Amino acid sequence: MTQIAIDAAFDSGNIEVLSIDGNTARLAITRDHMSEFAQWFHFRVTGAQGEAVELKITGLNASAYPGGWPDYDACVTEDREYWTRAASSFDAGEENGTLTIRYTPAGNVAWFAYFAPYSMERHHDLVSEAAASEGVELVRLGTTLDGQPLDMLEMGEGETQVWLYARQHPGETQAEWWMEGALECLTDPADPVARALRQRCRLHIVPNCNPDGSRRGHLRTNAVGTNLNREWANPNPEKSPEVLAIRNSMDETGVDFAMDVHADEAIPAVFLAGYEGIPSWTDDLGEQFYSYQRILDRRTPDFQTKLGYPKTPAGKANLGMSTNQVAERFGACAMTLEMPYKDLADAPEPEQGWSPERCKLLARDCLAALLEWLDTE
Ligand code: ZN
Repeated sequence: MTQIAIDAAFDSGNIEVLSIDGNTARLAITRDHMSEFAQWFHFRVTGAQGEAVELKITGLNASAYPGGWPDYDACVTEDREYWTRAASSFDAGEENGTLTIRYTPAGNVAWFAYFAPYSMERHHDLVSEAAASEGVELVRLGTTLDGQPLDMLEMGEGETQVWLYARQHPGETQAEWWMEGALECLTDPADPVARALRQRCRLHIVPNCNPDGSRRGHLRTNAVGTNLNREWANPNPEKSPEVLAIRNSMDETGVDFAMDVHADEAIPAVFLAGYEGIPSWTDDLGEQFYSYQRILDRRTPDFQTKLGYPKTPAGKANLGMSTNQVAERFGACAMTLEMPYKDLADAPEPEQGWSPERCKLLARDCLAALLEWLDTE
């Protein structure tokens, strides 16, 4: 009997092969280095052209977010461009929680991932193409613990300081697809929203806050197992140099509006989280966030306000989280954008589910909402 082969020794690859029997494989996700988090997977399968394969990812009751697996279909591509979904089912009672992925590859190789990956090579293409655009400056903010550059792009001539940053959590690749959409818009000299924003704002954009976690195939942490979005109160060079570099740069520019881009494992919706519970909360500052949320809700059917995180009670905000720290530190309107791994419950698209294409379109709506929001301030 011929066996399929499974590989993951490449940029952002993550899977451990427990056993292979013909076209069936038992697999497990490797934990983020020096941490307990496990959820991101990315591997390829060869040797099953035209034949059904069954891929069983086991042990998921111990993953970071077990609630991410019910109603989730794995992402799959054969051409590494167009990502669709492979029918998947979760059984909490099989081998401590097993996601079974079923797929019949048309060709000899198929790639599977938790969400469409965004490689470091593509990241460098994105940064370099944007940096070559008229009026865009590339700032090298610092060096990661693995020795990779941490890059920021700046543009615009206005007074309002806008910060957009993504992938503190590296397995949330949706966030960098969003960045690709945002940068395509902002660097287009013909785009009316981009032209108006660049006239009125100075934009500071960090497309990938966690290059090490990205390349290592982590879900949530950097090279030494640090969850960067808990470090914003006291970042340090040993554990969280990425956050220290970004926050120092923010201290130089100030911040009026900030969006930290993420994805949520369990909730089948796009939503925003604000900064309720910060010590210096005022209803006026809070209204800046609610106003933006209403504008985005009106602009795109892919956004909604029914599903999301509960509001933090007064005075209980965790200032280690980026947007709480930025709202408190600068009096800024600072929000977290969350996109799903699953499809949208309200607006499903069964072939692709939530996809890179939809992340990019959402970014354009977020920028158009920002322009409208500036007029309300
Ligand atoms: Zn996140």
